[in-house]
Amino acid sequence: MNQWLEKARRKDERDALAKYKEEFYLGDAVYYMDGNSLGLMSRRSEQSMLDVMEDWKNHGIDGWTRGERPWFYMSERIGAMMADLVGAEKHEVLATSSTTMNIHQTIRTLYRPTDERYRILVDDLNFPSDIYAVQSILEDYGYGDGMVKVPSDDSHLLATDRIIDMMDESIALILLPSVLYRSGQVLEMEKLTRKAHEKGIVIGFDLCHSIGSVPHHLKAWDVDFAVWCTYKHLNGGPGSVAGLYVNEKHHHHPVSLKGWFGNDKETQFDMKHTFDQASDISQYQVGTPHIFSMAPLLGALEMFDEAGIGNIRQKSLELTDFMIGMIEDVLKDHDIDIVTPKSHDDRGGHILIGHPQAAGINAALKSKGVIPDFRAPSYVRIAPVALYNSFEDVHHTVMILKEIMDDRLYEQFDNKRGVIA
Ligand SMILES: *Cc1c(COP(=O)(O)O)cnc(C)c1O
Repeated sequence: MNQWLEKARRKDERDALAKYKEEFYLGDAVYYMDGNSLGLMSRRSEQSMLDVMEDWKNHGIDGWTRGERPWFYMSERIGAMMADLVGAEKHEVLATSSTTMNIHQTIRTLYRPTDERYRILVDDLNFPSDIYAVQSILEDYGYGDGMVKVPSDDSHLLATDRIIDMMDESIALILLPSVLYRSGQVLEMEKLTRKAHEKGIVIGFDLCHSIGSVPHHLKAWDVDFAVWCTYKHLNGGPGSVAGLYVNEKHHHHPVSLKGWFGNDKETQFDMKHTFDQASDISQYQVGTPHIFSMAPLLGALEMFDEAGIGNIRQKSLELTDFMIGMIEDVLKDHDIDIVTPKSHDDRGGHILIGHPQAAGINAALKSKGVIPDFRAPSYVRIAPVALYNSFEDVHHTVMILKEIMDDRLYEQFDNKRGVIA
């Protein structure tokens, strides 16, 4: 037995979260390393989905208010279950819409441009949907030239000082990721928020790649707003309803996209033509919530509450430490570039490796039951997830990668990406 396998087994024996693995359906994958793109299904989320279907079966229309999981309050209930994960008050967190829709809704609500101060600061590395949303908002307001992007020196990482230097008097609002979806860098959210506020700028974060893997203290940091999806680390299932936080100091603003589910619940069914905005985060809802796209979260989020986000973060860092250490050791003869920052403060829940044959390597990994994902032009993202990956999984993943590199198995596959990468 090699020393890495021994070490992996020792770590698994002492792992207090190891018991959660058997709660998940691992599917066809032998080693699933893609929980940052789509988290796996658990028995608990399957059960909560079935429970909600049972409520429909038994109560019909009365399911909105009856039973243990009344649909009328489910967005708020799931919001409350996520409050600790983002470090906010329950009445500031909601499950609603999609990440992209929530970017539209919150920015359109909190953006107050003037002719001197109308620019929105984003970064050169963010996910395309965030950029499309911001650009379309600027165009709708007549400030089509108003997007400012923080550049990256190496196209992987962002420098905090560079971001801060760009916070000038022309910037009205900032949207940045918490963890960069490619390199896995964690931004200094607390410091960035403080600096933005010193300049009178509203700041929000997209937590898609940190929620459920990295703890946040949004309220203590005084972050204005945040959005996130729930199908990645939170295991809510494909297209599950997204999360939203808006600091209560902004709840007096009239929301931009109004709909009857943003109305005060007490008067919603008065059916008046004057909008009576809910006083808490509920105001950000628009139409009827997608109950079946929330139901799996009732089960999935229970596990985060039980396991504790602090313990999840601890194990996640140990998993990525282990993976980085092992790659540096057993793959030292191959020029694999570890892009992700090594320091814990700067590293999220996944790692990105680079190699000119990355697409072929990714395909070869998949053919051997390892599920990572490819990111063009030449990178592979690997996410060992605390709730369902073991240290032994990481060991085997790296050993399979070593076999692929030693035997040049990637040459048997096209070095290009599929439709979904
Ligand atoms: C996954 C992801 C999204 C996806 O947005 P949807 O509206 O859920 O499709 C948006 N932004 C970032 C940064 C993401 O990682």
